[in-house]
Amino acid sequence: MSKHVKYEPSRTLMEFRLLPGYTTPETTIDKISLETPLVSSKHNQKKIHIKIPIVSAAMQSVSGDKMAIELAKLGGLAFIFCSQSIESQVEMVSKVKRYKAGFVKPLAISMDTTIKDLVKIREGKRYSTFPVTDKNNTFMGLINKNDYNTPIHDKLKVSERMVPKEQVEVGVNITNLKEAHELLVESHQAVLPIVDKDNKLKHLVFRKDIRDHLDNPNQIVDEKERLMTGAAINTHDYKERVPKLIEAGADVIAIDSSDGHSYYQEECLIWLKENYPEVPVIGGNIITGEGFDMLVKAGARGVKVGMGGGSICITQEQKGTGRGLATAIIEVVKERDRHLKKTGEYIPIVADGGIGTAKDIVVALALGADYVMMGRYFARMEESPTERITVNNRIMKPYWGEGANRAREWKAERYHQTVFVEGVEGFVEYAGKLKENLENTIAKIKATMSTCGVSNILELHDNAILEVVSALSIREGKVHDIYVPRESTFSDYVEDNWE
Ligand code: IMP
Repeated sequence: MSKHVKYEPSRTLMEFRLLPGYTTPETTIDKISLETPLVSSKHNQKKIHIKIPIVSAAMQSVSGDKMAIELAKLGGLAFIFCSQSIESQVEMVSKVKRYKAGFVKPLAISMDTTIKDLVKIREGKRYSTFPVTDKNNTFMGLINKNDYNTPIHDKLKVSERMVPKEQVEVGVNITNLKEAHELLVESHQAVLPIVDKDNKLKHLVFRKDIRDHLDNPNQIVDEKERLMTGAAINTHDYKERVPKLIEAGADVIAIDSSDGHSYYQEECLIWLKENYPEVPVIGGNIITGEGFDMLVKAGARGVKVGMGGGSICITQEQKGTGRGLATAIIEVVKERDRHLKKTGEYIPIVADGGIGTAKDIVVALALGADYVMMGRYFARMEESPTERITVNNRIMKPYWGEGANRAREWKAERYHQTVFVEGVEGFVEYAGKLKENLENTIAKIKATMSTCGVSNILELHDNAILEVVSALSIREGKVHDIYVPRESTFSDYVEDNWE
């Protein structure tokens, strides 16, 4: 006799609809905040929030450095995949952290460098303005490509052609871009040198980076104003991988596993807690309250929920394990709430697998998830790491599971592999730039929340009323009995529903 047989079928997100609530002037679309905690923050732990409840999956065909940069600019976060060598994952994390989100560590030129040498230094750089310092790092001036001419000035020293400090606007001990912007707006400079009270050079702020920042007010940045990124790890080489990822600046770690309720993940979390207590870690994936409990006891500060629902996933078919994502969220949220009552610690829950549209996202949030992780959604974007190809006259991008042969190749010789695959390889329709797609998705989420009469995700958790709908009612909710050409003005709608 098995331990338990549950006769109540598990539910998917698609089976739920939200009932409207009372919309007030406080819950109009423009008032809605989608900010959400990424991990728990007990005692004096640093609070990390994302501005939109969306992160990208730790997958080869989804989350490289380009995706991480663009998503952090838009308020979400990517988890850079770990199915690659430690060196290449570290390089991706470094690229995100080096991306200019505002304050740049300057390459300073000394006063007696010749113009000829400066021209050589400039080669291959994407900028042409340099700060000039003396040997004590005191700021002396700025030199820009318009300040000299080659070969006429080749033999002159930088100090003879630079704009001296007396004529340069500087920011003294400025730490935020808004203040830097206020100074730059009034000056004619392309850059603002930031100095300390003794005029020692600390940073440079480029005008074009400020513009980028103003265009993306939701940017997620760390305390040094660098974009934030997550990085995935596995339970095999974490003792080597984690130190290097942390050194490169990874802000949060997620353990990437289809079954997180395991001794291996427990060991990994305990090791992380002992060796890197300040590093926030997300454990998973689990689909039961017991799984949640184990991960949190071992030190997880966020928990990823979902098994068997991913678009490329064949775990349910291959192994017979899994659970409808809605039921998994409901069960884990019950445990999260018990944990909160007992300890005062709020553990954010990430819904993962099979989510691809605004309506899936908002149902997952309404059931108690704090944010969602998506793979297929992001694989379709320009910023995913794959190249576009044409398949049957349609522009596509390849997309494959981490448990598919293609992803497993990199580690085949490293670890013992199961003989069967848990994921497939296919194509997804190319969707264009992330920014436009994400803005569209966000607009729909906010519209739903406004209809439900809530102005943030916690209110959605507390007040949402969900109802299971019948298959016929789902059918009724789709366009029916008329012909809608793909290219019509409904194409956005069709896009969302092309599966
Ligand atoms: P999607 O958003 O429906 O495409 O699902 C993405 C999620 O599927 C990931 O975040 C993982 O949790 C999961 N996943 C990734 N690769 C595989 C695989 O090969 N088999 C099963 N699940 C996978």
